[in-house]
Amino acid sequence: MPAKDLFSLHGRRALVTGSSRGIGFALAKGLGDYGAEIVLNGRDQMALEQSLSRLEKSGIKSCISCFDVTDQSAVLAAVESIEQTHGPIDILINNAGIQRRAPLEDFSRPDWDALMATNLNAVFFVGQAVARHMISRQRGKIVNICSVQSELARPGIAPYTAAKGAVKNLTKGMATDWAKHGLQINGLAPGYFETEMNAALVKDQAFTEWLCKRTPAARWGKVEELIGAAVFLSSDASSFVNGHILTVDGGITASL
Ligand code: NDP
Repeated sequence: MPAKDLFSLHGRRALVTGSSRGIGFALAKGLGDYGAEIVLNGRDQMALEQSLSRLEKSGIKSCISCFDVTDQSAVLAAVESIEQTHGPIDILINNAGIQRRAPLEDFSRPDWDALMATNLNAVFFVGQAVARHMISRQRGKIVNICSVQSELARPGIAPYTAAKGAVKNLTKGMATDWAKHGLQINGLAPGYFETEMNAALVKDQAFTEWLCKRTPAARWGKVEELIGAAVFLSSDASSFVNGHILTVDGGITASL
């Protein structure tokens, strides 16, 4: 393959979980711009329809698969349906995630369960369901969205940190088990990005001042700045990269 085609995603189909907005939508659009056909996912059909129409206006072939990633039977049914109706899932971006903030001594059991279900269990549920098909074809790319919180703790989000740390190691475990079947599984660890998940922090001037002091790039990230890394990890450009966590964080983890 000529080197200039290494990043092409033409002829590939990508399922991006949690792609009705935020990082997931940006990655769906980015992979679509590089030629991939996109399967959008989330729990809100109307929000997904709006996102679908934005992709279609950009000329990206796409469809919707509305399901809750924490419901394993729904995941299995959705993955079967995508494979039967649309065709093989060549790329999976495990992106759906939530945040809950509270001091650890006050953290509630329902919040703990919701965080673990969405941010950790679902990575296994969707990853396993899709990987079984990929293994039968002996090829496939999975990108698990980790976080700088896979490495660093911040006050009030210890359970999120625990889940994202586990996703980092699950990524390495998936690569270890599935590389022999022709799969590549890597992680993408964003720093701080302006999305709905961080809406309160973006408005909090003291937090932004702390972030700018703490981050060598001295600013919030823009979701489009994650596309290059996601395309790399989803394409033939990363054919010998496996079990790696690629950090995109303006240097925050380099400057401990
Ligand atoms: P947003 O809250 O903006 O978007 C989250 C997306 O996930 C939405 O599309 C939401 O749709 C979907 N989602 C949530 N729960 C479920 C579920 N159970 N089933 C299906 N879809 C679901 O978050 P971000 O874009 O900021 O975050 C995306 C990922 O990036 C997350 O994994 C997050 O932890 C990670 N991340 C984000 C960072 C940031 O700075 N923003 C930094 C590091 C990591 P709906 O609610 O309609 O279902």
